[in-house]
Amino acid sequence: MTTNSVSLPDARPVRVRFAPSPTGFLHIGGARTALFNWLYARHTGGTFLLRIEDTDAARNSQEAVEVILTGLRWLGLDWDEGPLTGDASAPGKGAVGPYFQSQRGDRYRERVAWLVANGHAYEHEGAIRFRMPRDPIVIPDLVVGKVTRELTDREKLEPDFVIVRSDGQPVFHLVNVVDDLDMGITHVIRGEDHLSNTAKHIALFRAFGVAPPEYAHIPLILNIDGSKMSKRDKGASLLSYIEEGFAPEAVANYLCLLGWSPKGNREVVSLPEVVSLFDLPQILRHNARFDLKKLHWLNGEYIKTMSGERFHELAVQALQRMGFNTAAFPAAYVKAAVETAKPKVKQFTEVRHFAAFYFRDELEFDTAELRTELLATDRVLLGRLRAAFAAVAAWDAKSSEAALKAVATEAAVKIGLLVHPLRLAVSGSPVGPSLYHALEVLGREKVLQRLDWVLNQAPA
Ligand code: GLU
Repeated sequence: MTTNSVSLPDARPVRVRFAPSPTGFLHIGGARTALFNWLYARHTGGTFLLRIEDTDAARNSQEAVEVILTGLRWLGLDWDEGPLTGDASAPGKGAVGPYFQSQRGDRYRERVAWLVANGHAYEHEGAIRFRMPRDPIVIPDLVVGKVTRELTDREKLEPDFVIVRSDGQPVFHLVNVVDDLDMGITHVIRGEDHLSNTAKHIALFRAFGVAPPEYAHIPLILNIDGSKMSKRDKGASLLSYIEEGFAPEAVANYLCLLGWSPKGNREVVSLPEVVSLFDLPQILRHNARFDLKKLHWLNGEYIKTMSGERFHELAVQALQRMGFNTAAFPAAYVKAAVETAKPKVKQFTEVRHFAAFYFRDELEFDTAELRTELLATDRVLLGRLRAAFAAVAAWDAKSSEAALKAVATEAAVKIGLLVHPLRLAVSGSPVGPSLYHALEVLGREKVLQRLDWVLNQAPA
């Protein structure tokens, strides 16, 4: 570990924070910053805080905050303290909300008054400026190494920077440091884009007479081709992974690998295991490249090995997002339906093809052509199949398969001639779970109803 002569003793319990500005967008870089802070807190038995940096009132909205909360909850990153919300169902331990800078204006004014009173800041043209030291400042960064920051040529002309604008608004550098100070933050883990601010932050801490926290600046996430990842790039928004049916554990695992790696080039590493292995000096110094293909692969691996209960939970969430009211069906039916889809689904959006038909009253076809194709099927054959199904003694996958085979043998046709229209008739899709298991789960009554629907339509 890099030693920092002004750092606090190691014995002090770790307190870290994720401090996003609510922009209405949670970039995966931000999500990774949150994750690394959370991992470090959990690894050390420390405390993880969430602080919404919402001093820029013009850009703030409740929806923008929700984007952040939704993303963190989805990844399973719970925070440990904050003001009481009075909402017992709220996430975070003890129903605490995040800290909001917008609620801390008085505190910033007090701290600024102290800086002015002690000669560290002064008024200039209505604004308040901080007296920045002219000497170089050394940043002992745990990831980047030792960085010495001198004033830039522009800063040499005016080294003292504004901490309160003439309209009374405190600026980012001030509120960020005051909060880290008041909240007892021991380690600031954030994106490398903030390294250029850190000399100012260290100078502020020193002016307050306090040792700065340790810093760990995490390298950026680039696109696979090495270009800078922008908001518009595919995969940049964390919420897009919810919409696109990824498993949160796969996304969390993938984010861990963006800038950190366990020994032996392992790629599938569950979050609890990362918690036990994670440490700051192991964060990689080079920029990470975002590989959507690898994430898809990892997601498939997680779904393959996931427990039936977890698959059920995520599949039901996906169905509900698509507007299916699974709660209106018996629990055993939902469970059995979802189970038939598990071997086929690689992304939860695919439950639309593999399980949605269980929860529809009216058949919906993947395409209009499929409907036409089904209505052009041999009605006599389909009628015989219906009769054979109606006559089966005990309805299950085996008996419906046997009944279908008997009809095919008798009519001297290949079973495919029955299987394909039957699948279309019950699910509206040419792909789906194992057909006979789907028939069993749907139940004879629904299967006969769906066949009757076809038989009662005018032929195509
Ligand atoms: N609000 C800043 C951001 O969104 C926080 C920087 C920090 O973590 O100190 O980047």
